Amino acid sequence: MKSVISSLSRLLSSREISSAELTDKYISAIESRNPELNAYVHTTFEEAKKNSAAADKMLKEGGASPLCGIPMTLKDNIATDGLPTTCCSKILQGFKPYYDATVWRKLKACGAVLLGKTNMDEFAMGSTSETSVYGAPSNPRNLQRVTGGSSGGGAAAVCANLAAYALGSDTGGSIRQPAAFCGVVGFKPTYGAVSRYGLIAYGSSLDQIGPITNSVTDAAVVYDAIRGEDEKDMTSCPTEKGKTILTPDVKGLKIGLADEFFDGLDTEIKSAVENAVKKYEKAGAQVMRISIPALKLALPVYYIIACAEASSNLGRYDGIRYGYRAQSYSSVDDMVVKTRTQGFGKEVQKRIMLGTYVLSSGYFDAYYKKACIIRESLRAQLKSAFGTCDVLIAPTAPNTAFVKGYTGGNAIEMYLSDVCTVPVNIGGLPAISLPCGKDKNGLPIGMQIIGDVFEDGKVLSAAYFAEEEKLCELEEVQGGVSL
Ligand code: GLN
Repeated sequence: MKSVISSLSRLLSSREISSAELTDKYISAIESRNPELNAYVHTTFEEAKKNSAAADKMLKEGGASPLCGIPMTLKDNIATDGLPTTCCSKILQGFKPYYDATVWRKLKACGAVLLGKTNMDEFAMGSTSETSVYGAPSNPRNLQRVTGGSSGGGAAAVCANLAAYALGSDTGGSIRQPAAFCGVVGFKPTYGAVSRYGLIAYGSSLDQIGPITNSVTDAAVVYDAIRGEDEKDMTSCPTEKGKTILTPDVKGLKIGLADEFFDGLDTEIKSAVENAVKKYEKAGAQVMRISIPALKLALPVYYIIACAEASSNLGRYDGIRYGYRAQSYSSVDDMVVKTRTQGFGKEVQKRIMLGTYVLSSGYFDAYYKKACIIRESLRAQLKSAFGTCDVLIAPTAPNTAFVKGYTGGNAIEMYLSDVCTVPVNIGGLPAISLPCGKDKNGLPIGMQIIGDVFEDGKVLSAAYFAEEEKLCELEEVQGGVSL
């Protein structure tokens, strides 16, 4: 794995290249490769030029952040003042927020350079990025395949070197699964470790912002820059002081392998993950087989809770406050109905209906309340697993990148692909996905390292071992900015 941020930071601070020159390189690479990849849905090159000029000044003064002057991208659901933020939905066409998300405000203060906003499933609902109103991005490792979702554009941009790093959001796997499909690193921090202020809400009790990078080292640098308590997000918490120190020493690390993550798993994926675990064992880690029975119920619990929260969060798109409004209507009610019918895509409409149903008075006890009870028992079982294990290792997804169009007629298959990632969001846990092998078609396989709440540093260090050991080195995709 290549530490792009560290290498660029070295070049910038030694003044071998200026941020303005580096930004121009990224802009030309995006202009040439984005038409086939569709990773970016809005480019912000004017903003990038302004940011890079400011960064060059900061670099000259010295003492700048390691992210100063480095070109990057944000998912299209992270608010950027005066710049398009549309959640890849027709209903937010033309919407430009008048404030910055906290993560972007922090990165901007570090001297980050914003190249644009990246493609995603509409309102972050999906696992392939194909529900985007702008059409799906392509997987840079195989253009016939999906990038995964919902932060697919960000994963594609990082994989193709069209950005040094990306920020995505993860409600049920949307950072980790596209990272796995594209063969890059995706880190979902502990719930509350990173402010959600300015992240357009999907499932508020599950949503989390995190980095997509080319290496674990890079993920830690970005995480350090965006984390911490924020008075604008009441669910945010203080995090450890100082920078995250990565230690590749796994001697005595207790790794739990929960049977439920491996039952019925595709053999290629199973053996890639197990081979990686053997390397940890050889280096002195202690591996234990455990069982977390409630993992089997995580998927239905997730889809009930996420849809319930989405049905409430998406109530605000009524044609009055934001973006799109239907052209002709006979009354206010008619306008709202027509706006929402025309503005939301099919997957979003389905989830709003499902969410409204499980919250309705007749079905609340049978579905929503039951899901909340099971959520608590899963959280308790995860807690007790971390009583004996330091981290859990699991596959990121039960499959590698789908052929484009495959899940269009098979929504259940798409939901099933989230089976290994959603328990992490239900537990509010930190987890990282990194490549651990390839399947018979040469597509990357992702492995997940999961930790207890606020043990983000431990998760990153455990992943750093794989990076140091060169556990899986994938070839570099050509056509982007190469160092
Ligand atoms: N694939 C999951 C879903 O469709 C997760 C999405 C996400 O993490 N935003 O809900």
